[in-house]
Formats: sequence, C-alpha cells, structure tokens
Amino acid sequence: MLKPVNGTPGDVTDYSCTRIEYDLAAGREVSVEDHRVQDDMDFLGGIGRSFKILSGYDVSDPFAPDAPLVINTGCFTGTQFMTGLRAYFSGYSPLKRTRAGMPMPVWSAMSGSFGRKFSYTGIGDLILTGRAAVPSFLVIRQTDDGPDISVVEAPSHLVGARVREKMFYLDERYNDGDKNYHAHFAVLGPAGENWETVWYAAVVGSTQEQLMSGEDKWRFAGRLGMGSVLGSKNILGIVARAETDYYRKGDDRLKAINNEIGRGEQSRGYRHPNNRNGLGGTGKNSKILDGFGVLPYRNFEPPGENVAVPVHLETMRESDDFIVIDKSCYGCQITCHQDFYDVPEGGKDPDWRKARRNHGEYLGRFEFEPMELSGANLGILDPHDNLELARLDDDLGFDTISANVVISFLMDYNARGNGTVADGVTFGDAEGVRRLKEDIAYGRERLFGKGVRAIAEEIGGEAFAMHAKGVEFSAYLGQTNPGYPFAVAGGHMSMRTFLLYVMDPDCKPDSADYWVRNITEEGWKMVNKDLHGGCLFTMAPPDQVSEGIEAVFGVPFSAERVLDATYRAHILGFALEQKQGITPDEYDLPSDIFVGQSKGDLPGVRFLTRELFEEVRTRVLERLHRDVETLGYGDHAAPASVQAV
Ligand code: SF4
Repeated sequence: MLKPVNGTPGDVTDYSCTRIEYDLAAGREVSVEDHRVQDDMDFLGGIGRSFKILSGYDVSDPFAPDAPLVINTGCFTGTQFMTGLRAYFSGYSPLKRTRAGMPMPVWSAMSGSFGRKFSYTGIGDLILTGRAAVPSFLVIRQTDDGPDISVVEAPSHLVGARVREKMFYLDERYNDGDKNYHAHFAVLGPAGENWETVWYAAVVGSTQEQLMSGEDKWRFAGRLGMGSVLGSKNILGIVARAETDYYRKGDDRLKAINNEIGRGEQSRGYRHPNNRNGLGGTGKNSKILDGFGVLPYRNFEPPGENVAVPVHLETMRESDDFIVIDKSCYGCQITCHQDFYDVPEGGKDPDWRKARRNHGEYLGRFEFEPMELSGANLGILDPHDNLELARLDDDLGFDTISANVVISFLMDYNARGNGTVADGVTFGDAEGVRRLKEDIAYGRERLFGKGVRAIAEEIGGEAFAMHAKGVEFSAYLGQTNPGYPFAVAGGHMSMRTFLLYVMDPDCKPDSADYWVRNITEEGWKMVNKDLHGGCLFTMAPPDQVSEGIEAVFGVPFSAERVLDATYRAHILGFALEQKQGITPDEYDLPSDIFVGQSKGDLPGVRFLTRELFEEVRTRVLERLHRDVETLGYGDHAAPASVQAV
C-alpha cells in the first residue's frame, strides 16, 4: 500500500511503502524499511518493484531457503479503480530455467480479494526467505502499529489437504462468522506441498464470492511454479486480515473510467451476453480459434476446423444441461467468471433471469485455458468431464496450463509408439487423466510434475514437448506465435503476440519485420497490468491508466510514463535472464511445430519456417540486448558466478 509522505503529494516520489524481509526459519523480520518511491516503476508497483528486488539476489536453486519469494501489489490494488485487486508473487522459477539448470525470474498474478486485504495490512513488499521448521501458515494482521506477521503451525489434518479444505478451515479460523470477511487467503493444494516433485503448483486466492457461497470460486497465481516455491518454504497458506479497508477513492474522473471499464466496449469481450451484449468471457476463444483451425487439439495438432464443438462455451451455454451465471471478483462489473450450474429438477427455465435464481449444484467455471487444455487438447470432448477435470486442477492446486500440457505430451508420446508411460494414458481417457493428476499432486509420480521439458529430457520427445524456456505453452499454438520465447514471464501473459495470426486483419505471418515489430514494439505493453494492479480484462489503454493514477493519487502522470515503466520492467526481466546465463539458442520453440514437421503442416496454418523464426530471433535479441545497455541494466545482465545445482 502506498502512503503519502506529506500532506500534499505533488509527485510519485512523495509516496512510500513498507518493505519487509521476513525469515520464515527464525519467524521474525530481518528488516522493515519505509521504502520511498524512487521512480515510476516503484510507484506503479507489482513487478516494477519485484524485479528490482530480485536483481539484488544471486539464486541458483529456486527452492533454496535463501531464494526470495516477493509478494506485493500494484498502485491500484485495493483502490476504487475497478478491478484493482491484483497480488503478485515473484521469484525464481523451477520451470523457467536455462539448459544448465539456472532458474530465471518470473511472476504470477491473481485477482480475488487476497491482494486488497494484503495491501490493507500495510505491507508494500513482503520478501520471504528461509524455511519454516514445520508445515505452517503465515498470518499477517493489520494493527495500529503496522503489519504484524507470525508463523503458525498448521493443524496436522490440513497437511496434504486440498485447497477447498484449507479455505474452509482458514475462513472459520480467521473470519468472525459475521459476513464482514476481514480475512482473505492465498493457499496451496497438495501439489504445492509436494514441491520436490511438482514444479508447477499454483497459489490459490480466496474471493468474496467464494467465502459467501462456500463454492470453490477462487483466483490463481498459477503459472511458473510460484506455489512450488511457497511450498518449499513450508508455508501451506497465507492469511491477510485487516479490519479496516483503506479504500482509496478517486476524484470525479474515476467514475467515468470505471463506467468504461465495467460497461464499455473495452471489456465487452469478457462479459456474458446478458451483461450489455458481452461476447462471453475468455471462453469465447475456443469457438473463434476452432473456426480458424488453430485450436489446440491432441497436443497442439488440430486436424482441421470445428473439431471441438461439443465443448465450445456457446454450445454448453445454450444446452439444456447447464445454467450459466456470470459472477465477479469484489466490486467488478465486468463479471468475467462464467459459472456453470446443473439444472434443477423440472429442467431449465427458458427465462434466463428465472434460471439464474433456480439452479442445481455448482459444476465448475468456463475459463478458456483450463477448459481448452483439460478438454480438446487432451481429446476430451465431453462437457461434464471437461468441467470436472478443470475443477480438479484448482482443488489440487496445479497451474492448470502446465499440468494439462504435461498430460497432452504424455498422451502424444504413447500415441506415437515411443513406448508406454503414465499407465498408457491415451487421448480421450478422462479416467486416466483424473488418476494421473492425483498421482502427480500427491507426489506419487517422480517425474511428471517437473514439466514437459524435464520429462522429455529423460524419456525423449523434445520435438513435441510444447514449451519455451521450460514454460508450457498456453492454449495457443506455437505454430502461430513466434513471440512465445520472448515472453519474459513465459507462456503468453507477458507477450501479446499469441492472437495476432487470428485477430490482426493486417497480420503478415511470413514477414520477419511484422513479428520483430510486434515483439519489440507492441507485445510487451500488456505487461503494464503486471505493475499497476488492475486486471488484464479491463483492456485499459495507457492513457486510461495514467488518468486513473491522477484521479486516485492526485499526482501528474502520463501514458508515456506508463509505457516507459512497463518497458523498463520488461527489459530488466530480460537482463535478469541473461544474468542466469541463458544462451541465444535457448530462445526456441519445439522443432515439430515448424513447417515441414509433423505439427508444422496443419490444414489451418503453415507459415512458420525454421529460417523465419531464426531471423526473428536474431533481430529481437539484438534489439533487447541493445535496450539493456541503453536503459542501464547491463550490470544486471552480467552472468552470475554461482553454479546451478
Ligand atoms: S475482470 Fe474478471 S478476473 Fe478481473 S477483476 Fe473482474 S471478475 Fe475478477
């Protein structure tokens, strides 16, 4: 939480935040600093501050007790800026490593209510080091004297428990049963507790809707193994309890901004059709991509168009088998959550308003990546199986993207006659997937929790292991996205080139100029939401972000400053990758996706040749290295002397 250092702040440097380093082994603060904002990266927050903090550590093992895990928020988190709810978990990733094994810096972000309560405790940045002696919860309380942090031994029945069970316990233990919900939570499932064999565990955050309904409607800092790092510190969950909400309101300008965010064209894609003519939420992507023949299917190899119609959002929403109700995080009018319920006895009322009020039990949520990757990409086209398998990932505490891409790889491996792994699991085998997910989460599988790259290195199949820099692809084909390897956080959430082939009417897919420009000039801009604490689905342009800052904090800002701070964070992240010793040829894609290879000659897409990619790579890396020097991050890019373990 940002605090003004004087009564009339006139600049971002007139704010500060509390930075605490906490040693979990000793159960006490190592340092408590009132950190005066130095620049726009500090002020915007999130990864702007985290990457600076991470640059001060040499890390060769992401699970070493002295490897830091940074938890913080953005400047909008906990304010009246609609969707200002995000919390960030930043550290060194067990998945995203150099080939020599050095972990690289990453972050993962969640909405929900944990972030706003965390900020109200008074903490700006919390740096966790050390390892608790026994499985524990970290409890942060707001007090008159500032944040109070303690490590509390977890009850034995919660060790190994699923997310749902931990959430119920913490709600009973730290809320007062009076519906005020002063406490919110970030917890691990069994996957995070078994961090030695599971490197893609998520941190799962509570939502107001979840605590009120008792249903498992969480948000996730899912990607890149931040849950595994928290698990390595022997922390099963974090409680943030604040009885007073320091809800910073904006001036009149914020009302118009929030109106636009919640109801305007910019967020239409993420709203239910009944909510001001929305396009359906992230789930709409299945039908769109399938229509172009580029929907990931059976390990990223679609045989044509419209191959997964039974599990399209639209098919399921119109079916008589389900009632879909759009729900939201605290105070958000976008209401992007598309929650699926069973129909009641007597069937579904044709009037959607009545159907909303009269439904059966909660079945799960349709979000694009979880549903696509645990459905069509596993060859599973049964809607009930699909909902159930996506929901299982949440309860076990997996990053649903990595977990399902691992399983699609194992299915592909078996289908190609390479041998038999994972009890011979095959495409379409929902029961086999259930069993495998349980086995991985509970540590009964030694290898399959370590991600596709580690698996392929041991059993073979590198050519069709769908990852870049060790990070599993999200639900977009590598065949259409040469930008994957340059996403600093990995995956797609830090490089917006994944939809250009389908959505950009001016796309020139076989032009290196086109891709280099989009990677170096445009794609990284989406990372601005990973600094300021608003949600991606606002699609807030930089001038709206800067106006929001002026409205909430009363200091001048500009769109250029939003973009400048964002680019600095992006380049600092790249510099820290260089520090860990990554080589140019590690910015790569699996060989089967190139034209001429088995996944590179799809009916719907055939442009990405090895030669085109290598030209893009050479030119992008030249530009990024140049910008490292120009922005003064050259020292951070010097390879560390420590060796990988
Ligand atoms: S857009 Fe969706 S995820 Fe983002 S804050 Fe609103 S409801 Fe939550």
